[in-house]
Amino acid sequence: MKRLKIAIQKSGRLQEGSLKMLQECGIRVDNGRDQLRAQASNFPVDFLYLRNSDIPQYVEDGVADIGIIGENVLIEKQKKLDKILPLGFSKCRLSIAVPKNTDYPSVQFLQGKKIATSYPNSLQQFLDQEGIKAEIHVISGSVEIAPNIGLADAICDLVSSGSTLFKNGLEEKDLILQSEAWMVARPNLSPTLQAIFDKIVFRLKSVLAAKNNKYLLMNAPNESLKRIIEVLPGIKSPTIMPLAQEGWSSIHTVINEDKFWDIIEELKAQGAQGMLVIPIQKMII
Ligand code: ATP
Repeated sequence: MKRLKIAIQKSGRLQEGSLKMLQECGIRVDNGRDQLRAQASNFPVDFLYLRNSDIPQYVEDGVADIGIIGENVLIEKQKKLDKILPLGFSKCRLSIAVPKNTDYPSVQFLQGKKIATSYPNSLQQFLDQEGIKAEIHVISGSVEIAPNIGLADAICDLVSSGSTLFKNGLEEKDLILQSEAWMVARPNLSPTLQAIFDKIVFRLKSVLAAKNNKYLLMNAPNESLKRIIEVLPGIKSPTIMPLAQEGWSSIHTVINEDKFWDIIEELKAQGAQGMLVIPIQKMII
């Protein structure tokens, strides 16, 4: 039987999230610490453990059929891959940073300056858009030390919490792009491989929807029901069940993480009581 080859990072910031997400899709995976290739025992998928920066090339060449990579790498490498689904983890941004207290009134500061980065294509595109000519120094790692050792006036690097910049006396100034992990695929998978991939995408969507939503139960006096139902989004409409106590009902619904606190406050104001919030494991819509 044909098997779909999925490339995931061998070690690094994307690996844990990638393996966890596939496990949540019911695909049994080995962590790949000591191997380059492994088979899922319960699904027609083979894992190729590769460097994040090499994954776009391997998928484009057809060595792997699909892959999980940082969007920033996909943009930098400019490969012709299908972007299928953002996965909601490994969120970061590519930014310009300069030593603290530098007089940086605008991006024009970079005119004629030296900038160190591991992302020359993304940086060049940004500089072109801004009409800036600067000297780009490509370094493969530890970009944040470049200003301190006199190699560059600024850096262009990935930032998540900003603590690495802070420790190195740098300040973030301009945002170039935002990134998260993405599921990508090479175009034109064979029908057999596409069918396996469709199953994975269906499962991923269910896992992602579950992460973004919560199951909510609450009690309310019957006279508040109409106002409460107006506040609730839910999948279709909420479930209402009578309580043993006369004049009261139990309301069950699903609410989105983004609007969670706004809705809770509104429900409280409308008379809801005893609210219980429960995580959802999978959500099949
Ligand atoms: P590899 O050696 O496998 O090519 P890498 O050099 O890209 O990996 P990692 O540091 O493991 O190194 O980063 C993998 C990806 O994780 C990045 O491309 C980016 O998408 C994401 N990421 C999230 N937060 C950060 C961060 N603070 N710094 C760097 N990368 C981050």
